[in-house]
Amino acid sequence: MDEVKTFSLPKLAYGYADLKPFISEEQLKIHYEKHHQGYVNGANNILAKMDKARAEGADFDVKSTLKELSWNIGGHVLHSLFWGNLGPKGKGGDKPGGKLGDWLVKEFGTLDRFRKEFTAAANSVEGSGWAALALGAQTTRPYIMQIEKHNVNVMPTYTVLMVVDVFEHAYYIDYKNDRAKFVDAFWNIVNWDAVGKRLDAHT
Ligand code: MN
Repeated sequence: MDEVKTFSLPKLAYGYADLKPFISEEQLKIHYEKHHQGYVNGANNILAKMDKARAEGADFDVKSTLKELSWNIGGHVLHSLFWGNLGPKGKGGDKPGGKLGDWLVKEFGTLDRFRKEFTAAANSVEGSGWAALALGAQTTRPYIMQIEKHNVNVMPTYTVLMVVDVFEHAYYIDYKNDRAKFVDAFWNIVNWDAVGKRLDAHT
């Protein structure tokens, strides 16, 4: 078993200024250092409380604790995926190629159609949440999921390949409340190479 018992922020593969002008240095820094760190701290604090209660034989509110834990772990896992599927414009190619590109075209007909559906999914998430591209566990088809908050509407065991964060904290500095404008900008900084590698690792 893995000996790592706590969560920590993953290292970014690029600098805070490298996603400009699509995500500003200030927006990325706050998102990573404040928001993502908050989920990491939240998950670790809950685990520490659970460890303590178990060691002392004390009770804790199981329902609310598990909900809070899934909120924080979901936030940590999704942000880690998000940073990994972003990169400076053009770094991972301008569009999905190779096996990833073929896989998407086979399902959606064209890459434009995939982008249109994924954009619509991101723009219509109710409240805060995420749009995600996932690999179906039984069919190996691509699925688009809307993940409300961090932990609702997820298809269990489906492997998430690419996400876009549409919590307002992801774009309010750069785009105010204009989520659609942020989602449009997102397409400029997708690291298709990284998304393709995730597909390769699971197929
Ligand atoms: Mn976020």
